[in-house]
Amino acid sequence: MASIMNTTNHAPASPAADYAQGAAYVGGRYVPIGEASIPITDWGFLRSDATYDVVTVWDGAFFRLAEHLQRFRASCARFRLDPGLTDAQISGILARCVRLSGLRAAYVEMIVTRGQPPWGSRDPRQAVNRFYAFAVPYVWIANEAQRARGLDLRISGVQRIPSASVDARAKNYHWNDLTMGLLGALDAGADTVVLTDGAGHVVEGPGFNVFCVNAEGVIVTPAAGVLEGVTRRTVIEMAQALGLPLQARALPAAELRGAREAFLSSSGGGVLPVTRVDGVPLGDGRVGPITQRLVQTYWDWHRDPRLSTAVDDVLQASP
Ligand code: PLP
Repeated sequence: MASIMNTTNHAPASPAADYAQGAAYVGGRYVPIGEASIPITDWGFLRSDATYDVVTVWDGAFFRLAEHLQRFRASCARFRLDPGLTDAQISGILARCVRLSGLRAAYVEMIVTRGQPPWGSRDPRQAVNRFYAFAVPYVWIANEAQRARGLDLRISGVQRIPSASVDARAKNYHWNDLTMGLLGALDAGADTVVLTDGAGHVVEGPGFNVFCVNAEGVIVTPAAGVLEGVTRRTVIEMAQALGLPLQARALPAAELRGAREAFLSSSGGGVLPVTRVDGVPLGDGRVGPITQRLVQTYWDWHRDPRLSTAVDDVLQASP
């Protein structure tokens, strides 16, 4: 590890540092994750004024890196943020974080914050945006036991922040609604939560999109008021490839409660089975056959070279 240099013209990583728990890129330097910190006056911290994206690494390769970079750019544009780096530079930094950590399976986050306007100014246009990144061990939204038996999902009374206020399509840290909903669900003995839109439709949960296989056997996922998850997109593509009917449209809470099957989609674990909604079993209460097929296909697709990019290849291509 001694000869590792970063991919931009910033300072090299410290060779003696311990990166086993993860590596971060902060202020133009690579540091062990435990040492990564941001200025307290950064509006990313003070105002949740930031956007981000998360791409995973599985078996030494990024999964759908191009799609994550594309969404990151779109999020930046929606929030008038600029990473100040090309896609190749961002990819190189992410790959270097993964390489430093030595991880073969990683959760890799890229972030742009507003930064801080000059003292005395409250004009966000005068702030110099900041780019941060880190790689840590792969994050599962559901643990192994939960994935085997399926999750108990609570439909929360907490309303998701309307997209007219904070555009849900731009990945953001406005999570108080998700966190309060999750706390309520955990207190009630459930595993996780999905929020509603105030009109009786479910939207999304803390870090995932939601699907159900309704009473007619159609896969349904909310169309609006949600992050356009890259895993959600993968599910839609898998359904097409497998010839399974799927509709993206408003999903009433009652339809989810009456579904045969349900599952979540997230970079934090792919397709995650749900077997109970509000404590009541769906169907026979076991992980459904369509869900099982999609879980299997999701991991199979990781071997498709059109969807995966080896971390080594990114490093070699880096400037
Ligand atoms: N919805 C929200 C609010 C999220 O934070 C996430 C991921 O973190 C998702 C959906 C799922 O998106 P993806 O499949 O790209 O991980």
